Amino acid sequence: MGSRIGIDLGTTNSLVAVIRDGHAEVLANVIGERQTPSVVSLDDDGAILVGAAARARALTHPERTFRNFKRDMGTDREFSHGAKSFRPEELSALVLRQLVRDAEAALGDTIAEAVVTVPAYFGELQRRATRDACEIAGLHVERLINEPTAAALAYGLQHRDRECRIAVLDLGGGTFDVSVLEIIEGVIEIQASAGDARLGGEDFVGLLVDALADRAVERWGADPRTLVHARARFWEACERAKCALSSQESVEIEVPRPGPHRQTDPLLLTLTQDEAHALWQPILQRMHPPIRRALRDADLGPEQIDEVVLVGGATRMPVVAQLAQSVFGRQPLRTISPDEAVAQGAAVQMALKTGDDQLDDMVATDVAPFSLGVSTVESHGRRRLDDVFSPILERGTVLPASRVERFVTAADGQTKLRVEVFQGEHSLCRDNNKLGEYSVEGIPAGAGGEQAIDVRFTYDLNGILEVDVTIVSTQETSTLIIERSPGRMSPEQVAQACETMRQLKFHPRESLPNTTALSRAESLFTELRGPARERLGMAMRAFRLSLEEQDPAAIDGLRRELLALVERFKS
Ligand code: AMP
Repeated sequence: MGSRIGIDLGTTNSLVAVIRDGHAEVLANVIGERQTPSVVSLDDDGAILVGAAARARALTHPERTFRNFKRDMGTDREFSHGAKSFRPEELSALVLRQLVRDAEAALGDTIAEAVVTVPAYFGELQRRATRDACEIAGLHVERLINEPTAAALAYGLQHRDRECRIAVLDLGGGTFDVSVLEIIEGVIEIQASAGDARLGGEDFVGLLVDALADRAVERWGADPRTLVHARARFWEACERAKCALSSQESVEIEVPRPGPHRQTDPLLLTLTQDEAHALWQPILQRMHPPIRRALRDADLGPEQIDEVVLVGGATRMPVVAQLAQSVFGRQPLRTISPDEAVAQGAAVQMALKTGDDQLDDMVATDVAPFSLGVSTVESHGRRRLDDVFSPILERGTVLPASRVERFVTAADGQTKLRVEVFQGEHSLCRDNNKLGEYSVEGIPAGAGGEQAIDVRFTYDLNGILEVDVTIVSTQETSTLIIERSPGRMSPEQVAQACETMRQLKFHPRESLPNTTALSRAESLFTELRGPARERLGMAMRAFRLSLEEQDPAAIDGLRRELLALVERFKS
């Protein structure tokens, strides 16, 4: 029959969870880790490498390593190296494929279907792109759910016996989502969600990299070529420093100078928590508007929030918890690992659907995270104002929802009408996202304003929109097939991508633990100097030899030694 899983398809990392004995449990992947980096790299033979090994190659092989593609879901962006080129959906599909393979190995069973999470802020195109990615990966998706809804389910907050209002702050690698949830008698309802799809933990790293680059200019001079190269190297060191600052008062960042002076002229930056907090103020300030907007949409003041939930790896930063505490005046909840809450909630949702009776009854509803409407023309006396955005389903409408709006012809003898569908919150359509358009023909000719057309928007729980257009006098109805719009794959492209997927060469799964260990060592090797570098180089050579000799016992032992060295020299 196959197993059912919940998938958190994250910007930085992805996770898979299942329900076992009534509890959500995150599964370990092929290398025994619970998080799989959402990174794809082409290995030295041009085969596809996904996860930690790919992530380690971001430093040593940046030109053939792709990351952060979740940010480009729903766009036409291509990621290329040589003759190979991938859309964001295809890269996401490669991550999903790996997650499914690993889950199958962990469970000893095939995967029948999954609930996959998306940021609440994802629009129609991004949700469709996520569904397309699942299709390309050959994964059956039961439902897409919003990440904050999943977090609430993971926390089991529906068990509160009184009415409760919750703010979920989700700061991941690349996105920030704020949601306000209301729970009444076991029913979870998202009152409002807002966010910034371009704000996340990586931005905190970015500012550290900027500070280091400024220091590099002072120290090494401003040779742009050296600096571009150096910035890539700074990233890993700054990422580690950022995480270290979550649990220690200060951190020392050291990076070697690229080129001939590397032995003699390293760059050193000592940073205390307070200094980093000052540096990060611009990003912290950007967290306030989405919080304010979500509270305003929910018609609540911060003091009316009963619980604050922090999810997303970046909420481990004390400065983020402090911000939450100062806005809401209460300690946030962080009892579940902030990286795992969303995946656990996706598994809970999956179990709800399959009626796992070990879970108490609970219901989750979602709201539309953005408004959907059409473009209309307004007459003001003799003047006409076109490009006006008329929302049909407003942001915050509880899903699933179906709403109809009646429009009339504008001109005498008009027999055609163009329905253009937009998503967004701006008053003019040109400032919103166009999702598609449809030409209604065969309207009986009449005086302007005489003929009525009903436009019905039906929005399902996955956030997928269907538009039905009915000419009232003839009762002729057609369903809008949203035409190919920028950022959207056509069914033919999806079919082609499925085919391409079958033909791709994949790095063998069974060798991933070895490849990952080597990639991690290689990446660190480029940063080290002196005896540490020599010691690591020796361990790498011994490990490579054991691989050539194919001696399983030696391989296991030397891999463990190599990884222990990597851990030691990293800190
Ligand atoms: P997510 O998308 O939820 O996996 O979050 C990933 C983000 O969390 C990345 O930007 C990580 O750097 C960040 N992160 C993970 N652990 C920590 C930590 N201990 N301190 C600070 N940031 C962290």
